[in-house]
Amino acid sequence: MTAYKNILIAVDLDDANKQVVSKAIAIAGENATLNLIHVIEPIQIYGPIPTIDYASIQSHTNDFAKKKLSALGEEFSIDVKRQYVLEGVAQKVIHAFAEENGVDLIVVGSHGRHGVSLLLGSTANAVLHGAQSDVLAVRV
Ligand code: AMP
Repeated sequence: MTAYKNILIAVDLDDANKQVVSKAIAIAGENATLNLIHVIEPIQIYGPIPTIDYASIQSHTNDFAKKKLSALGEEFSIDVKRQYVLEGVAQKVIHAFAEENGVDLIVVGSHGRHGVSLLLGSTANAVLHGAQSDVLAVRV
């Protein structure tokens, strides 16, 4: 089998993601490109709410996610130019990124912040379905 050349590692910024990154690196080909992505998902708000500063919440969330991703990337020596914090529905953004960037393997954790009640976490499952590339779900 040909080694993977362009790997996308999707992380939800939980500490368990270190296992996911380690496994991706362990199976990466010698000259493989490693991309690290975190997707900030839309907030759902129901009913009447007092005025909130949505822009400030977004900006704070973005800064926090970038710092967490950067610390993870640095720990595993992933090129800072290959670290991405994007916004949207996680599986859609991950699929679009993978297709637009010629990714040949997407690596996710089997479970993340959404808990272990399912056989495979909901995001992991959604990434697996509809991916144009191989997908590895690392058991966490
Ligand atoms: P879940 O299916 O939400 O329990 O999470 C399983 C895995 O999907 C996590 O370990 C990550 O690899 C990936 N994942 C979940 N949420 C996100 C997110 N917002 N951005 C990127 N990857 C994610």
